[in-house]
Amino acid sequence: MLECEVKSGWSQFIEFIESRCSSAEFENWIAPIRLVESSLEETVLEVPNIFVQEYLLDNFKEVLADFLPLKGSGDPAVRFVVSQADARYSSLPAPIDADEPPPSDIKLNPVYTFDHFIEGPSNQFVKSAAVGVAARPGKSYNPLFIHGGVGLGKTHLLHSIGHYVLEHHKKLRVQSITTEAFINDIVDNLRSKSIDKMKRFYRNLDVLLVDDIQFLQNRLNFEEEFCNTFETLLNQNKQIIITSDKPPGQLKLSERMVARMEWGLVAHMGVPDLETRVAIIKHKSELRGLNIPNQIAFFIAEHIYNNVRQIEGAVNRLCAHSRFAESNLNEEIVEKILSEMFQTAASHKKVSVESILKSVAAVFEVRISDVKGESRHKEIALARQVAMYLAKEMIDDSLMKIAASFGGKTHSTLLHAWKKVSDQIQANETLRRQVQLVRRNIET
Ligand code: ADP
Ligand code: MG
Repeated sequence: MLECEVKSGWSQFIEFIESRCSSAEFENWIAPIRLVESSLEETVLEVPNIFVQEYLLDNFKEVLADFLPLKGSGDPAVRFVVSQADARYSSLPAPIDADEPPPSDIKLNPVYTFDHFIEGPSNQFVKSAAVGVAARPGKSYNPLFIHGGVGLGKTHLLHSIGHYVLEHHKKLRVQSITTEAFINDIVDNLRSKSIDKMKRFYRNLDVLLVDDIQFLQNRLNFEEEFCNTFETLLNQNKQIIITSDKPPGQLKLSERMVARMEWGLVAHMGVPDLETRVAIIKHKSELRGLNIPNQIAFFIAEHIYNNVRQIEGAVNRLCAHSRFAESNLNEEIVEKILSEMFQTAASHKKVSVESILKSVAAVFEVRISDVKGESRHKEIALARQVAMYLAKEMIDDSLMKIAASFGGKTHSTLLHAWKKVSDQIQANETLRRQVQLVRRNIET
């Protein structure tokens, strides 16, 4: 009886969602989910991959909570299992078997394709590098190293390369891994004594996509194994694409590893400008069957500016809202729905060079006029470099403009200062603390 109620909870949820999703959305994301088990404590769902799970939780957690049993925390008590045992190694084709297309169970987010990637000045270069590599794997830049902040589309671009290669180079063996998964793979295979099989698997790939290499930092034993795999592939001209939250030189990895990563092309993924953010909002909402008027798209883009994932969260929220209430969206309603998100964005209040100078002068106990001046006195020069470093980090403006506000310095002086301080704070704890303190004073 009770089980029956829970089951009907899931089917009620399905019915409810189906009437509120576009049919493509439903087919792609919801229909593949299977109910495996349900009890009063827990609902077990089988998903084809982790993305479906994330999609469900990102978009419908609250709705799920209305239909399914809850945990103490108020979240829905759902457990996920990913379908099909991972058959990667056992289905490994012999290397000579070149006519048979290799079986592929590569895990790529279906929406992360080049078609769905919106271009703008901040990502044009890295996108065209990615397209180049996907079109001619192993023949242009190798490795391609993509770095940039959280939620700016690195994984999206990485998976786009994967999709493209699968579609256009059917004979190539492609695999996409997160660095965490690679490490777990090593651990599992060591345990089951199948490490040679695993090594063979990776070393027989034609294209390897590696997400979030920063997680290899401080994992010495794994770094060595990774580096060996990496070199083997590179030496055979097999394509490697890596993403990271920092450029190679700032990663705490061996010199050998850093040198290898810098060997090909290092490309930066920047924060999208206003127009690009608007285009992303329009595109994401159309995918979800919602037409957001330009004026509203600009309004959102002006308030959420440093993370595309947050922008996407905002669009999801608006979609959910407009499914429940058929009201027209206007700025007032949007502001109400997105108020928390706007607040977090608003707390990053606009930072000016003046406020940085003021805070630096206070922490380093020097005069603002000295920081802006020409003095080469050691303490003053350091304070000036820290101010320049923070200005580049915190102000979203052209380097030339920022440099000019420091008493007419050039942008190469600014870059030099930035590089120097970035390096020094890695090694110098005191300086790191001082910089943090300045930053906190500016932000509050
Ligand atoms: P990262 O790996 O850099 O943290 P992701 O690739 O996971 O970021 O991107 C976060 C979200 O933002 C994804 O849903 C992605 O589709 C979206 N996104 C980021 N940049 C773009 C872009 N230029 N065009 C379309 N969507 C984007
Ligand atoms: Mg990512």
